[in-house]
Amino acid sequence: MRRETVTPASEAQREAWRSGGFPEVERVRPGVWSIPVPIPINPLRYVLVYALELPGGVAIVDAGWDTDEAYGALVAGLGVTGYEITDVRAVLVTHMHPDHYGLAGRVREASGAWIGLHPADARLLAGRYDESLVGDLVRRERGLLARSGVPEPSLDELAGASMMIRRFVSMARPDRLIEDGERLDLPGWDLRAVWTPGHSPGHLCFAEPERRLLFSGDHVLPRITPIVAVHPQSGPNPLADYLEALAAVGRLDVEEVLPAHEYRFLELAGRVGDVIAHHHERLAEIEAVVGAADGISCWDTATRLTWSRPWESIPSYMRRGANNETLAHLVWLEAAGRLRRVAGEPDLWFPA
Ligand SMILES: [Zn+2]
Ligand SMILES: [Zn+2]
Repeated sequence: MRRETVTPASEAQREAWRSGGFPEVERVRPGVWSIPVPIPINPLRYVLVYALELPGGVAIVDAGWDTDEAYGALVAGLGVTGYEITDVRAVLVTHMHPDHYGLAGRVREASGAWIGLHPADARLLAGRYDESLVGDLVRRERGLLARSGVPEPSLDELAGASMMIRRFVSMARPDRLIEDGERLDLPGWDLRAVWTPGHSPGHLCFAEPERRLLFSGDHVLPRITPIVAVHPQSGPNPLADYLEALAAVGRLDVEEVLPAHEYRFLELAGRVGDVIAHHHERLAEIEAVVGAADGISCWDTATRLTWSRPWESIPSYMRRGANNETLAHLVWLEAAGRLRRVAGEPDLWFPA
Protein backbone atom coordinates (compact mmCIF):
# COMPACT_ATOMS: atom_id res chain seq x y z
CA MET A 1 0.00 0.00 0.00
CA ARG A 2 1.50 3.32 -1.00
CA ARG A 3 1.04 6.63 0.72
CA GLU A 4 2.81 9.92 0.54
CA THR A 5 2.04 11.78 3.69
CA VAL A 6 5.47 12.60 5.04
CA THR A 7 7.46 15.80 4.70
CA PRO A 8 10.74 15.07 2.94
CA ALA A 9 13.83 16.40 4.69
CA SER A 10 15.64 16.77 1.36
CA GLU A 11 13.70 17.86 -1.71
CA ALA A 12 16.60 16.86 -3.95
CA GLN A 13 16.66 13.35 -2.57
CA ARG A 14 12.90 12.97 -2.84
CA GLU A 15 12.97 14.28 -6.41
CA ALA A 16 15.71 11.80 -7.33
CA TRP A 17 13.53 9.03 -5.93
CA ARG A 18 10.42 10.21 -7.76
CA SER A 19 12.10 10.69 -11.13
CA GLY A 20 13.66 7.22 -11.04
CA GLY A 21 17.15 8.69 -10.68
CA PHE A 22 19.97 8.22 -8.26
CA PRO A 23 20.40 10.79 -5.46
CA GLU A 24 23.62 12.67 -4.77
CA VAL A 25 25.83 12.11 -1.75
CA GLU A 26 24.44 14.62 0.76
CA ARG A 27 25.60 16.10 4.01
CA VAL A 28 22.68 15.53 6.38
CA ARG A 29 24.24 17.44 9.30
CA PRO A 30 27.78 18.39 10.18
CA GLY A 31 29.50 15.03 10.47
CA VAL A 32 26.68 12.95 8.93
CA TRP A 33 26.54 11.93 5.27
CA SER A 34 24.08 10.01 3.14
CA ILE A 35 25.62 7.82 0.41
CA PRO A 36 23.34 6.01 -2.05
CA VAL A 37 24.62 2.55 -3.05
CA PRO A 38 22.91 0.74 -5.97
CA ILE A 39 21.00 -2.52 -5.51
CA PRO A 40 20.98 -4.85 -8.55
CA ILE A 41 17.64 -5.73 -10.20
CA ASN A 42 15.40 -4.26 -7.51
CA PRO A 43 12.71 -1.57 -7.73
CA LEU A 44 14.14 0.05 -4.57
CA ARG A 45 17.21 0.89 -6.73
CA TYR A 46 19.54 1.89 -3.89
CA VAL A 47 20.23 1.62 -0.22
CA LEU A 48 21.17 4.78 1.67
CA VAL A 49 24.36 4.17 3.62
CA TYR A 50 25.11 6.77 6.30
CA ALA A 51 28.63 7.79 7.21
CA LEU A 52 29.18 9.22 10.71
CA GLU A 53 32.42 11.11 11.17
CA LEU A 54 34.64 10.07 14.06
CA PRO A 55 38.00 11.43 15.09
CA GLY A 56 40.21 9.92 12.38
CA GLY A 57 37.61 7.92 10.47
CA VAL A 58 33.96 7.08 9.95
CA ALA A 59 31.38 4.58 11.11
CA ILE A 60 28.83 3.52 8.52
CA VAL A 61 25.24 2.46 9.08
CA ASP A 62 24.51 -0.41 6.62
CA ALA A 63 26.81 -1.36 3.79
CA GLY A 64 24.94 -2.34 0.59
CA TRP A 65 24.86 -5.40 -1.67
CA ASP A 66 27.92 -7.44 -2.32
CA THR A 67 28.52 -6.44 -5.94
CA ASP A 68 31.45 -4.65 -7.56
CA GLU A 69 29.16 -1.85 -8.64
CA ALA A 70 27.89 -1.29 -5.10
CA TYR A 71 31.37 -1.43 -3.65
CA GLY A 72 32.57 1.10 -6.24
CA ALA A 73 29.68 3.44 -5.38
CA LEU A 74 30.45 3.18 -1.67
CA VAL A 75 34.16 3.93 -2.22
CA ALA A 76 33.33 6.85 -4.53
CA GLY A 77 30.66 8.17 -2.14
CA LEU A 78 33.07 8.09 0.77
CA GLY A 79 35.52 9.97 -1.46
CA VAL A 80 32.99 12.81 -1.78
CA THR A 81 32.83 13.04 2.02
CA GLY A 82 36.64 13.26 2.20
CA TYR A 83 37.23 9.71 3.47
CA GLU A 84 38.55 6.49 2.04
CA ILE A 85 37.30 2.96 2.50
CA THR A 86 40.30 2.32 4.75
CA ASP A 87 38.96 5.00 7.13
CA VAL A 88 35.88 2.94 8.05
CA ARG A 89 36.13 1.89 11.70
CA ALA A 90 32.72 0.30 12.22
CA VAL A 91 29.87 -1.11 10.14
CA LEU A 92 26.60 -0.96 12.07
CA VAL A 93 24.14 -3.17 10.24
CA THR A 94 20.44 -2.61 10.80
CA HIS A 95 19.56 -6.18 9.74
CA MET A 96 20.80 -9.21 7.88
CA HIS A 97 19.08 -8.64 4.52
CA PRO A 98 21.51 -8.64 1.59
CA ASP A 99 20.95 -5.00 0.62
CA HIS A 100 22.18 -3.99 4.10
CA TYR A 101 24.57 -6.71 5.21
CA GLY A 102 25.98 -7.96 1.91
CA LEU A 103 29.00 -5.67 1.60
CA ALA A 104 29.93 -5.63 5.28
CA GLY A 105 32.55 -8.35 4.95
CA ARG A 106 34.29 -6.65 2.05
CA VAL A 107 34.40 -3.33 3.88
CA ARG A 108 35.97 -5.08 6.87
CA GLU A 109 38.58 -6.73 4.66
CA ALA A 110 39.54 -3.36 3.18
CA SER A 111 39.56 -1.39 6.41
CA GLY A 112 39.71 -3.63 9.47
CA ALA A 113 36.39 -2.18 10.64
CA TRP A 114 34.28 -4.17 13.11
CA ILE A 115 30.83 -5.33 12.05
CA GLY A 116 27.95 -5.06 14.51
CA LEU A 117 24.60 -6.86 14.25
CA HIS A 118 21.81 -7.76 16.67
CA PRO A 119 22.18 -11.31 18.08
CA ALA A 120 18.76 -12.42 16.77
CA ASP A 121 19.89 -11.78 13.18
CA ALA A 122 23.44 -13.01 13.77
CA ARG A 123 22.00 -16.34 14.91
CA LEU A 124 20.11 -16.78 11.64
CA LEU A 125 22.92 -15.94 9.23
CA ALA A 126 24.28 -19.47 8.88
CA GLY A 127 20.90 -21.11 8.27
CA ARG A 128 20.10 -18.53 5.65
CA TYR A 129 23.30 -18.29 3.66
CA ASP A 130 25.28 -21.45 4.41
CA GLU A 131 25.20 -23.84 1.46
CA SER A 132 24.91 -26.92 3.69
CA LEU A 133 22.03 -25.62 5.81
CA VAL A 134 19.96 -23.86 3.22
CA GLY A 135 18.28 -27.08 2.03
CA ASP A 136 16.69 -27.35 5.44
CA LEU A 137 15.38 -23.79 5.16
CA VAL A 138 13.80 -24.54 1.78
CA ARG A 139 12.23 -27.72 3.20
CA ARG A 140 10.69 -25.81 6.11
CA GLU A 141 9.47 -23.09 3.76
CA ARG A 142 7.85 -25.75 1.60
CA GLY A 143 6.06 -27.17 4.65
CA LEU A 144 4.84 -23.73 5.63
CA LEU A 145 3.53 -23.08 2.12
CA ALA A 146 1.79 -26.48 2.02
CA ARG A 147 0.01 -25.70 5.32
CA SER A 148 -0.95 -22.34 3.79
CA GLY A 149 -2.73 -24.10 0.94
CA VAL A 150 -0.34 -23.31 -1.92
CA PRO A 151 -1.35 -25.64 -4.79
CA GLU A 152 0.96 -28.66 -5.14
CA PRO A 153 2.34 -27.79 -8.63
CA SER A 154 3.61 -24.40 -7.36
CA LEU A 155 5.15 -25.61 -4.10
CA ASP A 156 8.72 -26.29 -5.22
CA GLU A 157 9.00 -23.13 -7.27
CA LEU A 158 7.71 -20.93 -4.45
CA ALA A 159 9.76 -22.63 -1.75
CA GLY A 160 13.02 -22.06 -3.65
CA ALA A 161 12.11 -18.58 -4.83
CA SER A 162 14.74 -16.52 -3.02
CA MET A 163 17.69 -18.87 -3.35
CA MET A 164 19.30 -16.89 -6.17
CA ILE A 165 19.83 -13.81 -4.01
CA ARG A 166 22.23 -15.71 -1.75
CA ARG A 167 24.90 -15.07 -4.36
CA PHE A 168 25.02 -11.48 -3.21
CA VAL A 169 25.77 -12.18 0.40
CA SER A 170 29.18 -13.16 1.66
CA MET A 171 29.07 -15.09 4.92
CA ALA A 172 30.85 -12.53 7.06
CA ARG A 173 30.30 -13.09 10.77
CA PRO A 174 29.73 -10.03 12.93
CA ASP A 175 32.52 -9.04 15.33
CA ARG A 176 30.15 -7.55 17.88
CA LEU A 177 26.60 -8.27 18.90
CA ILE A 178 24.58 -5.12 19.53
CA GLU A 179 21.90 -5.44 22.19
CA ASP A 180 18.73 -3.41 22.67
CA GLY A 181 19.44 -0.09 24.41
CA GLU A 182 23.19 -0.40 24.04
CA ARG A 183 25.14 2.84 23.74
CA LEU A 184 27.66 2.40 20.95
CA ASP A 185 31.25 3.17 21.62
CA LEU A 186 31.73 5.87 18.95
CA PRO A 187 33.64 9.00 20.04
CA GLY A 188 31.62 12.19 19.55
CA TRP A 189 28.35 10.27 19.22
CA ASP A 190 25.58 9.39 21.62
CA LEU A 191 24.26 6.57 19.45
CA ARG A 192 21.77 4.14 21.01
CA ALA A 193 20.61 0.84 19.57
CA VAL A 194 16.85 0.35 19.50
CA TRP A 195 15.76 -3.25 18.84
CA THR A 196 12.85 -3.18 16.39
CA PRO A 197 11.96 -6.78 15.47
CA GLY A 198 9.32 -7.55 12.84
CA HIS A 199 10.79 -7.00 9.38
CA SER A 200 13.61 -9.24 10.58
CA PRO A 201 13.92 -10.75 14.07
CA GLY A 202 17.02 -8.73 14.91
CA HIS A 203 16.27 -5.45 13.16
CA LEU A 204 17.93 -2.45 14.81
CA CYS A 205 17.33 1.27 14.54
CA PHE A 206 19.93 3.70 15.87
CA ALA A 207 18.79 6.81 17.73
CA GLU A 208 20.93 9.89 18.33
CA PRO A 209 19.06 11.88 21.00
CA GLU A 210 21.43 14.85 20.96
CA ARG A 211 21.08 15.43 17.23
CA ARG A 212 17.50 14.10 17.30
CA LEU A 213 18.15 11.70 14.45
CA LEU A 214 16.84 8.18 13.90
CA PHE A 215 18.63 5.80 11.54
CA SER A 216 15.59 3.68 10.79
CA GLY A 217 16.86 0.95 8.41
CA ASP A 218 13.80 -0.70 6.84
CA HIS A 219 11.66 -0.33 9.99
CA VAL A 220 10.12 3.02 9.00
CA LEU A 221 10.27 4.28 5.42
CA PRO A 222 8.63 7.40 4.02
CA ARG A 223 6.38 5.86 1.38
CA ILE A 224 6.34 2.08 1.50
CA THR A 225 5.95 -0.34 4.38
CA PRO A 226 8.48 -3.13 4.91
CA ILE A 227 7.46 -6.76 4.46
CA VAL A 228 6.45 -8.33 7.75
CA ALA A 229 5.91 -12.02 7.11
CA VAL A 230 5.81 -15.42 8.77
CA HIS A 231 8.61 -17.62 7.40
CA PRO A 232 10.87 -20.33 8.81
CA GLN A 233 13.21 -17.76 10.37
CA SER A 234 10.60 -15.30 11.66
CA GLY A 235 9.28 -15.06 15.17
CA PRO A 236 5.89 -16.75 15.80
CA ASN A 237 3.96 -13.46 15.60
CA PRO A 238 6.16 -11.00 13.70
CA LEU A 239 3.38 -8.49 13.10
CA ALA A 240 2.79 -8.11 16.84
CA ASP A 241 6.53 -7.54 17.31
CA TYR A 242 6.59 -5.06 14.48
CA LEU A 243 3.60 -2.99 15.61
CA GLU A 244 4.91 -2.84 19.16
CA ALA A 245 8.36 -1.76 18.00
CA LEU A 246 6.80 0.78 15.68
CA ALA A 247 4.79 2.38 18.47
CA ALA A 248 7.90 2.50 20.68
CA VAL A 249 9.94 4.23 17.99
CA GLY A 250 7.09 6.70 17.45
CA ARG A 251 7.50 7.88 21.05
CA LEU A 252 11.16 8.86 20.57
CA ASP A 253 12.06 12.52 20.35
CA VAL A 254 13.19 12.64 16.72
CA GLU A 255 13.44 15.52 14.32
CA GLU A 256 14.65 13.71 11.22
CA VAL A 257 14.41 10.09 10.10
CA LEU A 258 17.26 8.63 8.05
CA PRO A 259 15.86 5.49 6.41
CA ALA A 260 17.74 2.93 4.31
CA HIS A 261 15.58 3.43 1.21
CA GLU A 262 13.73 6.19 -0.66
CA TYR A 263 14.49 9.50 1.11
CA ARG A 264 14.91 11.09 4.51
CA PHE A 265 11.94 12.72 6.13
CA LEU A 266 10.48 14.63 9.11
CA GLU A 267 7.51 13.97 11.42
CA LEU A 268 8.20 10.43 12.51
CA ALA A 269 5.19 10.14 14.82
CA GLY A 270 2.77 10.91 11.99
CA ARG A 271 4.35 8.33 9.73
CA VAL A 272 4.27 5.72 12.49
CA GLY A 273 0.57 6.43 13.02
CA ASP A 274 -0.12 5.97 9.31
CA VAL A 275 1.75 2.67 9.11
CA ILE A 276 -0.05 1.31 12.17
CA ALA A 277 -3.39 2.41 10.67
CA HIS A 278 -2.46 0.73 7.37
CA HIS A 279 -1.90 -2.61 9.11
CA HIS A 280 -5.17 -2.33 11.02
CA GLU A 281 -7.00 -1.70 7.75
CA ARG A 282 -5.32 -4.77 6.33
CA LEU A 283 -6.29 -6.79 9.39
CA ALA A 284 -9.91 -5.71 8.98
CA GLU A 285 -9.85 -6.61 5.28
CA ILE A 286 -8.49 -10.09 6.05
CA GLU A 287 -10.99 -10.61 8.85
CA ALA A 288 -13.78 -9.76 6.40
CA VAL A 289 -12.51 -12.22 3.77
CA VAL A 290 -12.34 -15.00 6.36
CA GLY A 291 -15.76 -14.01 7.69
CA ALA A 292 -17.29 -14.37 4.22
CA ALA A 293 -15.92 -17.90 3.72
CA ASP A 294 -16.68 -21.13 5.51
CA GLY A 295 -13.15 -22.12 6.40
CA ILE A 296 -10.47 -20.71 4.09
CA SER A 297 -6.74 -21.27 3.65
CA CYS A 298 -4.14 -18.56 3.91
CA TRP A 299 -3.33 -18.84 0.21
CA ASP A 300 -6.99 -18.50 -0.84
CA THR A 301 -7.31 -15.52 1.51
CA ALA A 302 -4.28 -13.89 -0.12
CA THR A 303 -5.76 -14.29 -3.61
CA ARG A 304 -8.86 -12.35 -2.51
CA LEU A 305 -7.09 -9.33 -1.05
CA THR A 306 -6.31 -6.07 -2.80
CA TRP A 307 -2.68 -5.87 -3.90
CA SER A 308 -0.87 -3.19 -5.88
CA ARG A 309 -1.80 -5.19 -9.02
CA PRO A 310 -4.26 -8.00 -9.84
CA TRP A 311 -3.29 -11.37 -8.30
CA GLU A 312 -2.97 -13.00 -11.75
CA SER A 313 -0.21 -10.59 -12.74
CA ILE A 314 1.85 -10.99 -9.55
CA PRO A 315 4.92 -13.08 -10.41
CA SER A 316 5.12 -16.35 -8.50
CA TYR A 317 8.22 -15.45 -6.47
CA MET A 318 6.32 -12.44 -5.14
CA ARG A 319 3.22 -14.49 -4.40
CA ARG A 320 5.18 -16.29 -1.72
CA GLY A 321 5.84 -12.97 0.01
CA ALA A 322 2.15 -12.10 -0.36
CA ASN A 323 1.15 -15.42 1.18
CA ASN A 324 3.58 -15.09 4.09
CA GLU A 325 2.52 -11.51 4.74
CA THR A 326 -1.12 -12.60 4.79
CA LEU A 327 -0.16 -15.35 7.23
CA ALA A 328 1.45 -12.77 9.54
CA HIS A 329 -1.87 -10.93 9.66
CA LEU A 330 -3.87 -14.14 10.21
CA VAL A 331 -1.60 -15.15 13.07
CA TRP A 332 -1.97 -11.68 14.61
CA LEU A 333 -5.78 -11.97 14.38
CA GLU A 334 -5.65 -15.44 15.94
CA ALA A 335 -3.56 -14.17 18.86
CA ALA A 336 -5.99 -11.27 19.29
CA GLY A 337 -8.91 -13.73 19.50
CA ARG A 338 -10.55 -12.46 16.31
CA LEU A 339 -9.95 -15.61 14.20
CA ARG A 340 -9.33 -19.28 14.88
CA ARG A 341 -7.32 -21.84 12.97
CA VAL A 342 -8.17 -25.48 12.40
CA ALA A 343 -4.88 -27.24 11.76
CA GLY A 344 -4.58 -29.50 8.72
CA GLU A 345 -3.21 -29.65 5.19
CA PRO A 346 -3.97 -26.88 4.67
CA ASP A 347 -4.76 -25.02 7.89
CA LEU A 348 -8.22 -23.47 7.62
CA TRP A 349 -9.23 -20.14 9.12
CA PHE A 350 -12.60 -19.29 10.67
CA PRO A 351 -14.09 -16.36 12.56
CA ALA A 352 -13.49 -16.81 16.31
ZN1 LIG B 1 15.09 -5.58 4.75
ZN1 LIG C 1 16.23 -2.95 2.70
